[in-house]
Amino acid sequence: YKNTAQMFQNIPAESKSDDALPKGVVLDKDGKPCRTCSSLSSWRALTKQADKKNATNTSTTATPALAAAATPSPSELPSDCPPDVEQLGRSTWTLLHSMAATYPEKASTEHQSNMEGFLKFFSKLYPCWVCADDFQAWMAHPSGRNQPKLGSRKEFGWWMCEAHNEVNRKLGKKEFDCRFWEERWRSGWKD
Ligand code: FAD
Repeated sequence: YKNTAQMFQNIPAESKSDDALPKGVVLDKDGKPCRTCSSLSSWRALTKQADKKNATNTSTTATPALAAAATPSPSELPSDCPPDVEQLGRSTWTLLHSMAATYPEKASTEHQSNMEGFLKFFSKLYPCWVCADDFQAWMAHPSGRNQPKLGSRKEFGWWMCEAHNEVNRKLGKKEFDCRFWEERWRSGWKD
């Protein structure tokens, strides 16, 4: 990916208006494709498009078919590649649910305010900006009903589960039964 990714990093979106972006590629706020906002499959389509363009723009002996055949297309992202939106999401949910799982049974005022601050900044700084914007909007629902519940581990774990379910619904994924959040993220499943 290195060369094609680098190529896109240096080309503003407007200058490649003759190529429609593959479905699912999300642009960053600067108009360049956002890797951590896009899925691996859409990113692959994007790099393929760039490779194709490169192949027609440069005279090489390899035909596009040969070039494509030489490119392995594993279904999983290699572990030493930058994350796509899904890998980033899975790792982040692991962190967030683990923070809930290790949260005090009864949290002090200081602990609650530390977590409140963390969530505030997290929702602004999450590296997929479209995800971050939606998450912030969900938390700031005018009714106040989605504000983090930070009094105890049970409350916070449940709130985190609901937050995750909100994203699951948006993406058309199955909702998780929040009664089992603690088994999934803290105690392990009963035999
Ligand atoms: P994930 O949804 O990552 O879940 C990982 C594991 O958590 C699951 O295998 C399951 O065991 C468990 N789990 C699932 N649901 C719950 C729950 N409700 N409570 C407790 N445990 C649960 N991706 C986008 O494409 N667009 C977005 O706008 C977007 N927004 C996101 C916002 C945030 C704050 C985060 C952290 C991620 C976001 N993602 C988004 C990524 C997305 O949520 C998934 O992480 C990604 O699609 C990979 O999904 P997955 O099916 O592998 O499992």
